[in-house]
Amino acid sequence: MNDHAPNSWEARAEAHSLYGFTDLPSVRERGTVVITHGEGPYIVDTNGKRYLDANSGLWNMVAGFDHKGLAEAAKAQYDRFPGYHAFFGRMSDQTVALSEKLIEVSPYPRGKVFYTNSGSEANDTMVKMLWFMNRAEDRPQATKILTRWNGYHGVTAISASMTGKPYNSVFGLPLPGFLHLTCPHYWRFGHEGETEAQFTARLAAELEEVIAREGADTIAGFFAEPVMGAGGVIPPSAGYFQAIQPILRKHNIPLIADEVICGFGRTGNVWGSQTYDFVPDAIISSKALTAGYFPMGAVILGPEMTDRLQAAIDPIEEFPHGFTASGHPVGCAVALKAIDVVLNEGLLDMVRAGAPRMETGLREIAKHPNIGELRGIGYMWALEAVQDRATKTPFAGNLSVSERIANTCTDHGLICRPLGQGIVLCPAFTLTDAQMDEMFAKLDAALKQVFADLA
Ligand SMILES: *Cc1c(COP(=O)(O)O)cnc(C)c1O
Repeated sequence: MNDHAPNSWEARAEAHSLYGFTDLPSVRERGTVVITHGEGPYIVDTNGKRYLDANSGLWNMVAGFDHKGLAEAAKAQYDRFPGYHAFFGRMSDQTVALSEKLIEVSPYPRGKVFYTNSGSEANDTMVKMLWFMNRAEDRPQATKILTRWNGYHGVTAISASMTGKPYNSVFGLPLPGFLHLTCPHYWRFGHEGETEAQFTARLAAELEEVIAREGADTIAGFFAEPVMGAGGVIPPSAGYFQAIQPILRKHNIPLIADEVICGFGRTGNVWGSQTYDFVPDAIISSKALTAGYFPMGAVILGPEMTDRLQAAIDPIEEFPHGFTASGHPVGCAVALKAIDVVLNEGLLDMVRAGAPRMETGLREIAKHPNIGELRGIGYMWALEAVQDRATKTPFAGNLSVSERIANTCTDHGLICRPLGQGIVLCPAFTLTDAQMDEMFAKLDAALKQVFADLA
C-alpha cells in the first residue's frame, strides 16, 4: 500500500477517479502521478518531480507540452468563435479551411473530410459509412470488417470490435462480423524456417482464404494501421501491403488506413501509408492531427469513397450522422496550426534527422541478452523483453516484466509504456539530442536494474 496522506493529490485521485487502461496494483503500490504542467517533452508532478515523457502523452503531443503557437492559436479562436457544430448546413470558417488543408496534404487529388472527437469515433464513423454505402448499393449483407490481431482501433463498441486484443472479451466483444487476421509480425509469428517473404505470402494467402470462406460480397472493408501502435509498435513484414492490396482490389474491398498514430510525421513522412508505399481508399486520423492540443479525429475519404458516399446520400438527401462537436472551430484552428508546425516549422524534418540517431542508441541498449527484438521506424520504437533470446521465450507473466521496467523508468524520471512484454518509445518530434541521450541513459539503467533483479 502507498502511504499517501488522505488529502494528498494521490489519495484524492484514487477516491473519485476511474482509471482507464491502468495496472491498478502498480497504482496501489506506488500512487498516482498527478501532473500539474509540462515543459517541452517533460511533465512535472504535484511534488515538483520532472519526467521526460518518452511516449509524448499517448503518441500525440508531438510538439511537446508548451508550444506557444498552438496555445495562441487556440486562444485566438476561443476569442473569435469558441464553439459550434457542423449540422444543418452550418459550419465554422476554420472547419472549411481545415478540410481544404487535409485534402491538400492527403494522397488524394480530391476527397472529403468528416470530423469526430477521437480516433475511436473516426473508425466507428468509417464503418457506419461503409454500411450505409453498401445498403444504398443494395448489398446489405456486405457488413463484415476485417482487421488484424494486435491491431488497435479504439474503444467504442465498433472500434473495440475492430481491435484485435483479448482484453475485449470482458465486454463480450468483438461483435459478430468483426474478423481478425494474423498479425504481420515476422519475428513473433513467423514459422520455424520460414523466410520473411514466405511469411508475407502466407498472410496474403490467409486473406484470400478468409475472403473465399466468408464471401467477398459479405465484406465491407479491411482496416489496418501502417505500423501497429498499441499492439506493440509492429511494422508490417516486408512487402505486406503490396501483397494484400491487390487481393482487396480484386474483390472490391476498400483498404482503410488507420493513421491515428502514423499520420502527421511519426514514421518520417506525413502518412505511414506513404512510408510503406501504398495509397489507401480512406484515411483515419487523430492524435497528432492537433498535436494533442484538442480532442479531434477525422475521416478522410479518397475520390472513390467520396463518390460512393455521395451516391448513398443523394436519395435521402442527408447523412444522418455527426457529433455535437464535429468540426469544432477551436479544434480546427488548432489542427491547422499543428499541421503548419509539423510541416513548416521543421518537426517532420526533426523526425527524419533524428530517426537514425534514435535507432543507433536503441540498438546499443538492445544488446542486452534479455532484449529479444528492437523494432520500429521514425519516432516509434519498441524493445521486446525475453527470458531467453535464442528461443524467444518470454518472461513468466506473473513477473510483470514490462510494468517493472516502466515503473523503474518512472523512478528514474522517464515515462515509457509497457505493452505486453515490450517497452514503447515514441517521444515528441521536438526532442533535442541531449534529451534523447537522457532517454537512452535512463532506459538503459532501468533495464539493467530490472534484468539484474530477475536474474
Ligand atoms: C489511439 C488510437 C485509436 C483511438 O483513438 P482515441 O482518440 O483514443 O479514440 C484508433 N486507432 C489507432 C491506431 C490508435 O492508436
